[in-house]
Amino acid sequence: MTAPLSTVQVAVHTPSHSGVGDLLDYTSERPLAPGTLVRVPLGRRVVLGVVWVGDGAAAPGERALRPVAGVLDGIAPLDAPWRRLVAFAARYYQRSLGEVALSALPPQLRDLGPEQLARRLRRPARQAEPAITSDLIALSAEQESAQAEILSKPGPFLLFGSTGSGKTEVYLRCVQELLAQDANAQALVMVPEINLTPQLEERFTARFGAASVVSLHSGMTNPQRLKAWLAAHSGQARIVLGTRMAVFASLPGLRLIVVDEEHDPSYKQQEGARYSARDLAIWRGRAQGAKVILGSATPSLESWHASRPPTPDDPEGGRYQRLHMPSRIGSGAGAGELPRVRRVDMNHQPRRTVFSAPLLAALQERVERGEQSMILLNRRGYAPVLHCQDCGWKSDCPHCSAHQVFHKLDRTLRCHHCGFTVRVPRACPGCGSPDIVPIGRGTEQLEEQLGELLAAVRRPDGTPVRIARIDADTTRAKGALQSQLAQVHAGEVDVLVGTQMIAKGHDFRRITLVAAVQPDGALFSSDFRAPERLFALLMQAGGRAGRDAAYLAAQGTRCEMWVQTFHPQHGVFEALRLHDYPAFAAQQLKEREEAAMPPFAFQALVRADARTQEVAQGFLAAASHAAHAHGLPGLEQVTLYPAVPLTIQRVANVERAQMLLESSSRTALQRFLAHWQPVMQATRSQPEHKGLIRWLVDVDPLAI
Ligand code: ADP
Ligand code: ZN
Ligand code: ZN
Repeated sequence: MTAPLSTVQVAVHTPSHSGVGDLLDYTSERPLAPGTLVRVPLGRRVVLGVVWVGDGAAAPGERALRPVAGVLDGIAPLDAPWRRLVAFAARYYQRSLGEVALSALPPQLRDLGPEQLARRLRRPARQAEPAITSDLIALSAEQESAQAEILSKPGPFLLFGSTGSGKTEVYLRCVQELLAQDANAQALVMVPEINLTPQLEERFTARFGAASVVSLHSGMTNPQRLKAWLAAHSGQARIVLGTRMAVFASLPGLRLIVVDEEHDPSYKQQEGARYSARDLAIWRGRAQGAKVILGSATPSLESWHASRPPTPDDPEGGRYQRLHMPSRIGSGAGAGELPRVRRVDMNHQPRRTVFSAPLLAALQERVERGEQSMILLNRRGYAPVLHCQDCGWKSDCPHCSAHQVFHKLDRTLRCHHCGFTVRVPRACPGCGSPDIVPIGRGTEQLEEQLGELLAAVRRPDGTPVRIARIDADTTRAKGALQSQLAQVHAGEVDVLVGTQMIAKGHDFRRITLVAAVQPDGALFSSDFRAPERLFALLMQAGGRAGRDAAYLAAQGTRCEMWVQTFHPQHGVFEALRLHDYPAFAAQQLKEREEAAMPPFAFQALVRADARTQEVAQGFLAAASHAAHAHGLPGLEQVTLYPAVPLTIQRVANVERAQMLLESSSRTALQRFLAHWQPVMQATRSQPEHKGLIRWLVDVDPLAI
């Protein structure tokens, strides 16, 4: 006689919107604990799954269930807090449980057979004692008090500290304290892009020893990721440093989560489950009893608002506790100061000026003194479009509603949306005229023009100026970014030109001038978050200047941030001049409140892709109509706006439309979305929406 079979419910990665239920039933010869990793048959394949319900009573008389194909016994089951996080994320971001669960696991787990896995696990996993190697510096009074608050209060905390105020040092100390209190404690430290901040990794390994620290980000190979993930899951790694994906790491001993540069848009995943790692960090911290620190010099308006102190009108205040570190680390006259902001009114410059005369003179001075400068332009390539002066032809991408960007170095026209690339034509494809000219400029052109303008300038040792460019084009090769950054750090570059890549996080020591040559575009964007992003970018960029007080003192220099603009009086630049984030935030929040926009309202976007705009919009209109016809719960508090094309409405021959949903109640919006999902599934299967390619929901979208 055989033993009775157990039934288990397993989360597997089914194609999203496939209509297959979230959990699939299988039989098992022995009971399996929830969280156990298993391999199960799905169609003709065998796939990785996570046992979600281990003791599901067998439903008698139903179709025969297939047995579990294998159990990954060597790996402890994923614990309940991890499963709750995944379940919450799936529900909140409107995706299937299996999709979120499986994409939160290292990809290699899917491919490894039991023997391969066993071999990998055989390596001894002993817990590393954090080896605190470096001598500790004395904290500033501001750092001291921030640390004391974090250690004694529950949080979550918004650590609002100027660039160079020593936030990272505070993270290090808090991690250290919490790990010292509990031998099983773990900390998760998230950064927007680990490749941009190799120094952070160095600082953590220098402080805690390489054995206690693992990284988790998409730049790692699959074996590296699996190894790091297992180290975190087993408790062997005490500190996980990672990008947004690390928010899903299995960390049984989690006591602290740090979200550095919490305002950074890259915390929001832009495909699949469109989660915000920052928001999930807050949720996870509360659910798992871990402290959460969000850190930034220019917090997101959401976090700023959530950390508002209580006032007589608002006795509760926000849910987060705000900690302020206004001063830069450093001492001595003129040191440790934020850069002086200089605006150049481009209305008074000759037409088509790229570098105004005063900026050029300032750059020249810096080069002659052997100091470094940084020029920021958030557009790569040589020029955003080529144009025929005779017939008006433009270098439009044939597959997208966008121009192909002119890249002069390799003589190509490249679409930055679909990647379509052609050789630059010798003559206009429309009329044959040779008069095709670039319009506008990108980083390649800046680099070239700067080379010409500064050709006669000499460094202190009499050698010519050295100009370098860092953007997505120069850093494609593996390790290229690291070596280019190393050159800047080593002082082998006098003027660095680049996109926002150069503005983030780097602890450059000898930069004394930062310039934004053309920041105006963002002022008039249709996206209500554009000014917020511009302000953060400029503050970040400015924060790269004057980081070494001793160097500034020795040079007798003051650091400067230059802005060339046609709108020098604009509030963004006025606030930048005063380094006054709170004033900027107050003004923006007032506008947002009056217009009932986030954080005073909650949004979701539904996007539809189809071969024609008509089909895409038609689906959204029908889904909206169905919601009203069904009188779905929550709808009374949710506004559904009409479907509209996206700003770039066609990409790779796919027409894209979207519909905005807004509510003053997050709960109502969530309730509505949950009920709407099946209605949209049903709508999709109607014959008139046959041409629909896909649709998706983006909850708390970052770009509208
Ligand atoms: P942030 O993260 O706020 O930009 P960091 O933590 O990177 O600032 O600190 C900026 C610089 O100041 C770093 O080089 C760091 O080593 C140094 N630093 C931080 N705290 C102190 C301190 N208490 N005393 C001396 N130097 C410090
Ligand atoms: Zn032409
Ligand atoms: Zn294209």
